[in-house]
Amino acid sequence: MKKKYLLAPGPTPVPERALADMALPVIHHRAPEYVPILQEVRDNLKYLFQTKQEVLIFTSSGTGAMEGCVSNLLSAGDHALAVRGGKFGERWFDICKAYSVNVEAIDVEWGYAVKLEQVESALKKNPEIKAVFIQASETSTGVYHPVKEIADIVRKRNNTILVVDAITALGVVNLPQDEWGIDAVVTGSQKALMLPPGLAFVSLSDKAWSFAEKSNLPKYYFNFKKEKKSLEKNQNAYTPNVQLIVGLREVLREIKEEGLEQVFKRHADLANATRQAVQALGLKLYTVDKPSNALTAVWAPEGMDAGKITKLIREKYGITIAGGQDAAKGKIFRIAHLGYSGYFDVITAISALEAVLKELGYKFETGAGLKAAQKALFGE
Ligand SMILES: *Cc1c(COP(=O)(O)O)cnc(C)c1O
Repeated sequence: MKKKYLLAPGPTPVPERALADMALPVIHHRAPEYVPILQEVRDNLKYLFQTKQEVLIFTSSGTGAMEGCVSNLLSAGDHALAVRGGKFGERWFDICKAYSVNVEAIDVEWGYAVKLEQVESALKKNPEIKAVFIQASETSTGVYHPVKEIADIVRKRNNTILVVDAITALGVVNLPQDEWGIDAVVTGSQKALMLPPGLAFVSLSDKAWSFAEKSNLPKYYFNFKKEKKSLEKNQNAYTPNVQLIVGLREVLREIKEEGLEQVFKRHADLANATRQAVQALGLKLYTVDKPSNALTAVWAPEGMDAGKITKLIREKYGITIAGGQDAAKGKIFRIAHLGYSGYFDVITAISALEAVLKELGYKFETGAGLKAAQKALFGE
């Protein structure tokens, strides 16, 4: 037997209480017993999103809600702007293209955050831009973009909305939708929400809902207005993944029990310890600008294929971390510390990392990473 550990930025481990709930027999989504479950989920999603708006729930991976944002908020011929600084920024751009939206990109070098001036000048140059698409946490590069400041810029424009893919940010860092005036916030079940993949969420501001009223792009399953109307009656428009909704009730209870503030602090502590540890091993962070607290992206040692690290750590120690994508493939590895993650997940990751680096011939002082992590987590 080999014990397995999931330390990748999605899917993430599922808490035992949620697993137990999801093992119960399937209930019918139109039966009376489903109503209080959905009611509680709706209330607690508002707590998580820090919004008074209805949080829409779809049975899909996170990308479904991203696509829904394009098809529900824009119309044929509309102009849009996508911040393209990684794999997921590319996705916003590609979805817009698929719907024939006139999308332009701000290309940001991987590892860097977009600069406010870049957003300001793109908006100034093209006053027709109706939507700005961005990631809060760009999971492929580990970058946290300055969404609060960008919301301040976009909010001043009556004809522009800000759409944020918060899939590895919501439930990791403070992202108060209503307070910051973010027009659309998207997340998925398999990241900070600690569930298996299969649910996507999105919440819209009043301004975004007014865009939804006018949108004429084709849509059917991902119909925001229809889903909202159903939810207000404690129903889903179509058959939801009932098991995941039952699991969601439980994880939202756990998030509420811990309290958002402590959830954010825990993620900050884990991220800090991981960053300290890899640097103490003489490794370099891939993320140049503000690193996301969801994951730590790290350059493999000079001359070493990062794929060897992720392969060996999985095969020998049963630990799944992530490699790099596209341009970063073979160059970096990514250790996640989001969702159902605690101090000893960091210790596990760093301990195993030291073991594989040693086996692959990298020279460092044994225990230096662990010592740095322990110091960050437990004090001197
Ligand atoms: C995981 C992730 C997604 C969604 O991917 P799915 O596979 O569709 O769930 C989108 N954006 C970011 C930033 C992510 O981390």
